[in-house]
Amino acid sequence: MTAPAPSLPRRWLADLAWLPGQGLRHDVLIEADGDRFTSVTPDASPTSLTFLNSPSSPTSSAEPAPEHLRGLTLPGFANAHSHAFHRALRSTTQADPGTFWTWRERMYDLAARLDPDSYHRLALAVFAEMALAGVSCVGEFHYLHHQPGGHPYDDPNAMGRALVQAAAEAGLRMTLLDTCYLAGGLSPEGPLPLAGPQLRFGDGDAVGWAARVTELGCDVHGMIAPHAQAGAAIHSVRAVPREQMHPVVAWARRFGAPLHAHMSEQLAENEACQAAYGMSPTRLLYAEDVLGPRTTVVHATHVDEGDLELLGGGQTFACLCPTTERDLGDGLAPARALAAAGCPLTLGSDSHAVVDMLEEARGVEYAERLARQARGHLTAEALLQAATAAGHTSLGWPDAGEIAPGAWADLVTVCLDSVRTAGVADGLALEAAVFAASAADIKDVVISGRDVVRDGAHLLVPDVPGELSRSIRAVLG
Ligand SMILES: [Zn+2]
Repeated sequence: MTAPAPSLPRRWLADLAWLPGQGLRHDVLIEADGDRFTSVTPDASPTSLTFLNSPSSPTSSAEPAPEHLRGLTLPGFANAHSHAFHRALRSTTQADPGTFWTWRERMYDLAARLDPDSYHRLALAVFAEMALAGVSCVGEFHYLHHQPGGHPYDDPNAMGRALVQAAAEAGLRMTLLDTCYLAGGLSPEGPLPLAGPQLRFGDGDAVGWAARVTELGCDVHGMIAPHAQAGAAIHSVRAVPREQMHPVVAWARRFGAPLHAHMSEQLAENEACQAAYGMSPTRLLYAEDVLGPRTTVVHATHVDEGDLELLGGGQTFACLCPTTERDLGDGLAPARALAAAGCPLTLGSDSHAVVDMLEEARGVEYAERLARQARGHLTAEALLQAATAAGHTSLGWPDAGEIAPGAWADLVTVCLDSVRTAGVADGLALEAAVFAASAADIKDVVISGRDVVRDGAHLLVPDVPGELSRSIRAVLG
């Protein structure tokens, strides 16, 4: 396993940084030792500090000179919901009309073509694209477990390990959300068997799923590598029969692991759940003890008042994926109502129609504006909270996503002098980042104390577009 290399003590001086409880601060001296921040000092005088990246910087100093971070510095972003291999479908599904369900057929066709090597190569390129977009931690919702037809590889976790390796090579931390996927659909009479391309997703039953996941070899804290921890996922009420949910919940509790589930992305799922079980997906997950403060429901697009009460009352995270939800015609997730009910919001790029966490952030607010024909529901700070601290916590990294002593040393610097961001007053830098900047404006990314992106270039994967092209071509032909 290639783990991120240990880092040395570091110092940065950020022109502007967003700090927890303080908002936007000027001239912030940020110090780290290894992979953690050790101190954060706003209003440090730039004139008393000599920058490491300045041509006149001296080399003999008791303390390392700070590196200058120009623009707005934010904590690392958490991409809380990803299926890395869906990236190969980008644009291929845009030329024709269709629905979520026709898109899913294309996705199944792609899923049938992958093996551990091609999965690794594709995921490495996609995770590198994420790093360029400021993502320091990814939650990979992984259900492509076995060989086509369902026979396990010699290592039954070969596909999951390919993802863990890819994240290490791209410089990201990750939570491998190993997904239980047992049924091919939900009819009024009950769950349908897996068929065709779905066969490789299945472990027989949830006990078989738990036995395979345990073989990942996680420690008592659920860690499978220095940069990766294991999490659990119930694919959806369509793919996991009600009586199979408990072993997944029990496994997650045993390891204190995060538990994620797709939920109510499409009305058809609600209708199928109602017909089979006589209740909504939210109520079913509540009845099976799935919801709670370590659980994330992904999408929560079609939820009613009673659902909101159950979700918020349990402080269940709601992960919204606006670019995917609008791409697939899912509907508008009720972000404000979810937040008001008590659900911390998180963000995911899901199918990777684009990889841009700033676009995901503003997409949440814009969906509300379109639904309500009014502006101003979630502030830039609330949306950044979803992209950073809340997202990391939902992935089992509660000490990440803030620029604060003791937290993981992740930094994302957004330039404020591009064609998209130039001319904005310093005091509006957060609004500029969320509502005007794009992933292309992210210039420097530090993950676990290590430079991963500098001046817009990935330092570990030198040619990310080339890697994307080659790995996708290898799969699609
Ligand atoms: Zn998904």
